[in-house]
Amino acid sequence: MPRLNMAQETTLILFKPDAVQKNLVGQVLARYQTEGFTIRGIKMMTLSDEILAEHYSHIAEMPFFPSVRGFMQESPIVALALAGEDVITKVRDLLGPTDSNAAEAGTIRGDLGDKSGDSKMRNVCHASDSPEAAQAELKRFFNDGELF
Ligand code: ADP
Repeated sequence: MPRLNMAQETTLILFKPDAVQKNLVGQVLARYQTEGFTIRGIKMMTLSDEILAEHYSHIAEMPFFPSVRGFMQESPIVALALAGEDVITKVRDLLGPTDSNAAEAGTIRGDLGDKSGDSKMRNVCHASDSPEAAQAELKRFFNDGELF
């Protein structure tokens, strides 16, 4: 039964350098498209220190932040704007928790994230965690005219 009040939303997904390096972008995108979500924007880009400081301001004081910044600059990433009903929550659910070792089989991080020491960092994708975050992050990674 469809739930009432399901919101049409757009979320921001980043395919992190581990996903790009391991050629996982296609299969992860397929998982999301199989759910019926649609692409509003997609592009490859490198991430500057400035955009990473802004995007990861909530972990900027953590001891692991320099490693995360270095990881996110290892190779280009793929930014994706994905739309659909309740897409923000559903994309996070399909992704799984931060630590790939704690993520259940069947989730993207559980199936495809790092399992050998970098499991908290090399976790395939970023995805917005709230409507407010999605709005700010879409603006951060996509310019006017790049969303359709
Ligand atoms: P999420 O991406 O699951 O929302 P956070 O916003 O808490 O997680 O953290 C941002 C990113 O920083 C994570 O996706 C991961 O790449 C990295 N990270 C988080 N915690 C750690 C940690 N303890 N050690 C190394 N990297 C981490």
